[in-house]
Amino acid sequence: MSYTPSSERYAQMKYNRTGRSGLKLPALSLGLWQNFGENAPMDRARDICCTAFDLGITHFDLANNYGPPPGSAETFFGQLLKTDFAGYRDEMVISTKAGYRMWPGPYGEFGSRKSLLSSLDQSLGRLGVDYVDIFYSHRFDPETPLEETMGALDSAVRQGKALYAGISSYSAARTREAAAILRELGTPCLIHQPSYSMLNRWIEDDSLLDTLDDLGAGAIVFSPLAQGMLTDKYLNGVPSDSRANQGSSLNPGLLSDDNLARIRGLNAIAGRRGQTLAQMAIAWVLRNDRVTSALIGASRPQQVIDSVAALAKPDFSAEELADIDRFATE
Ligand code: NDP
Repeated sequence: MSYTPSSERYAQMKYNRTGRSGLKLPALSLGLWQNFGENAPMDRARDICCTAFDLGITHFDLANNYGPPPGSAETFFGQLLKTDFAGYRDEMVISTKAGYRMWPGPYGEFGSRKSLLSSLDQSLGRLGVDYVDIFYSHRFDPETPLEETMGALDSAVRQGKALYAGISSYSAARTREAAAILRELGTPCLIHQPSYSMLNRWIEDDSLLDTLDDLGAGAIVFSPLAQGMLTDKYLNGVPSDSRANQGSSLNPGLLSDDNLARIRGLNAIAGRRGQTLAQMAIAWVLRNDRVTSALIGASRPQQVIDSVAALAKPDFSAEELADIDRFATE
């Protein structure tokens, strides 16, 4: 059946300005790292994306290597843009990245001009679009001069193949260097994409949010649910259809008795707030207004519905925050 987006799609979502740029992003964005490759049922993948769009999620995050196999998430989304999402390109912010291994040989990964610009051309081909909205350097490359990597992002923007430039998982110090180079080139650093959750606070320890605030760049934080650990799904064992059971990125060893005790404690706090743990985890990363968007994943449409409902209760008391810290960090 053909898809018609909900006429109410902009009614509930909150849109946050990305740093000091003109671009607004939804408070929740959807990432296609897992569950949108050739290994995922296409109907379900489509339903997840349509459910997200119906709820005001206008930002879809991809990378060259998302799948499996690498590239297949972009191919899937390209098909969606030609079918269900045809006519809605201008209502969407689509991002992609290059930096992790995509093809064999010395040019298939990291941050050379050769690698980044070839990869972007491939991404545009798979997505079937003339440009992406945001093009990221997916990771810092210790062997390539930062001027070359940032120069490639600037070229992508000047060539009209990307509207904005971003970086992912760069330290605060490297972010400052990268942003200074980009500023000089005339293409500001729009956004940084780091990991962040109640269980993973490196961006606080590294003062990355302060740095981004200074630079006027936004922050879109990935894996706010710690890949599903910050939900109620592992409280009674490892479900067969869960990421931890797929032997991929979420190591089941992380579901130790100690970590499960922490998650149970956090789940109880969420319950007292009248939220699911997933909702509290998302509200927690968004409590800081320097976070532009929480970048979630989903393996079924209902998870997106549950996660977006986090916006109904955004505020935390000082006592709740202290309780969360006690379970998550001590
Ligand atoms: P999350 O922390 O949001 O984890 C998503 C997983 O959590 C889902 O697959 C699902 O697990 C579970 N889940 C989601 N919502 C709910 C819910 N409401 N209730 C219960 N369980 C839920 O994020 P991801 O780790 O998937 O990452 C999100 C995105 O961030 C990626 O798609 C990608 O775009 C980006 N990313 C970027 C990286 C980078 O280097 N820049 C690295 C990693 C991610 P299950 O599948 O088991 O059902």
